[in-house]
Amino acid sequence: MNWAERAAQHDAQDALAGFRSQFAGHDDPAVPAYLDGNSLGRPPLAAKQRWADFVETEWGGRLIRGWDEGWFAKPLALGDRIAAATLGAAAGQTIVGDSTTVSLYKLVHAALAARPDRSEIVVDRGNFPTDRYIVEGIARDTGRTIRWIDVELGAGVTPDDVAAVIGDQTAVVLLSHVAFRSGFVADVPAITAAVHEAGGLVVWDLCHSVGVLPIELDAWGVDFAAGCSYKYLNGGPGAPAFLYVRAEHHELAQQPIQGWMGVRDSFEMGPVYEPAEGIRRFVSGTPPVNAMIGIEAMLDLVEEAGIGAIREKSVALTEFAIELYDALLAPSGVELTSPRDAAVRGGHVTIDHERFPALIGELWSEGVIPDFRPPAGIRLGLSPLSTSFAEVEHAISRIAAGLAR
Ligand SMILES: *Cc1c(COP(=O)(O)O)cnc(C)c1O
Repeated sequence: MNWAERAAQHDAQDALAGFRSQFAGHDDPAVPAYLDGNSLGRPPLAAKQRWADFVETEWGGRLIRGWDEGWFAKPLALGDRIAAATLGAAAGQTIVGDSTTVSLYKLVHAALAARPDRSEIVVDRGNFPTDRYIVEGIARDTGRTIRWIDVELGAGVTPDDVAAVIGDQTAVVLLSHVAFRSGFVADVPAITAAVHEAGGLVVWDLCHSVGVLPIELDAWGVDFAAGCSYKYLNGGPGAPAFLYVRAEHHELAQQPIQGWMGVRDSFEMGPVYEPAEGIRRFVSGTPPVNAMIGIEAMLDLVEEAGIGAIREKSVALTEFAIELYDALLAPSGVELTSPRDAAVRGGHVTIDHERFPALIGELWSEGVIPDFRPPAGIRLGLSPLSTSFAEVEHAISRIAAGLAR
C-alpha cells in the first residue's frame, strides 16, 4: 500500500471523519491541505446561519434590548460553556471577552496583587512572544524581576526546569500548556503543585491545548488560565479569548483594568469602582458579543464529539505525520522538532530544514498551507474535527517533492 492509500484507509476508519464536512472550505480544490487550523481554525458551517440569525433576530429585532436579554450575561454564560466542554472547570470561574494578550496581562497583574510581597515572575524563553512581552512590561512597571527558563528547540518546560528557578520570591509563573513551536505538553499538575509548594501562583496559557487536549483546571489546582478561541475552537479571526480564575482567588486577585462592566451594577453608574461578586469583576468593558458566534457553533461540534475522542484522533494524526516524516523527510536531512512521545506531544508537529524559509511560499501557492515558524520551522497543525489523514499525506508528500527539486 502506498502512502496515499494508507491515508485513505485511516480516513475510512476514522470515527470522527463525518465532522469534516461541517466546515466551510473542506472540499475546496484550491486548498488540498490546510494544516494551520491551530492558528486559525476553519469556519464551522453552522456559524453562517447563526450569524444571519443574530443580525436579523437578535441585533436587528431586539436592538438595544438585547443587552438585557442575554448579551450582558454572555461573557459568563459562554465562559461556563467553554469551561464545561473543554477546561474541566466548574461554573462561575471563566469569562470570555478580551484577547489572550490582554487576558494574560490581567491575570499576571491579578496574581501579583495576591502576592504583593514577592519580587519574581517566572517565564520561559520558548514561550509565545506575547507572553514574554507582557511579562517584560509588567516587570518593568511593577519593579519585579524576571526569572527566565531556557528551553531547547523541540522541547518544553519540565518540572525540574521550574524547580530550578522558583523559591520564596516567586510571585507568579506564566507558562504554556502546549508549547507553540514544539508542541511539547507541560506537566501542568506537577508544575502547579511545585509552584504552590514555593508559595507562588501559576498562570497557564492554554492557546494550543484548548479544544484538542483534555484539561482539568479545577482538579489540577490551577490558579489562573487563559486561551484563544480562534485556534482549535474555530471562533474565527477576532474571536475573544477566555480567562479562568479559580474561585478562591476572586477576592484577593485584583485585576488592573477596572471597567464599568465588571462592577456590582453597571447602570447605577456610581462614583467609584465597586467590583462585582465572583468572576464578573474580571470583565472590563463591553463584551464583543458578535465575535462570540463562531465559538458557539464550534462548541456544538466539540461537545458532540467529546474531548476524549478528539484527543485520540489528534494523536493518530500526529503519529501518522511522524511516520510520513520518517519515511519521506528524514532522509533529506529534515529535523523533527516535536516530541516523539505522543504522551507529551500536543496537536501539532514541527519540522525544521534550512530550505523551509524558501519552500513555504511555494507550498502556499499550491494550496498546501502549514505555518512557518522562525528560524526554519514548518508547523503542521492538525485540527482533529476538520483535518483528514489525506491532507497530512498530501502536505508531507509536497514538502518532500519540494526538497527534491
Ligand atoms: C496564539 C497565541 C497567543 C495569541 O494571543 P492573541 O492575544 O490572541 O494575539 C498567545 N499565546 C499563545 C501561546 C498562542 O499560541
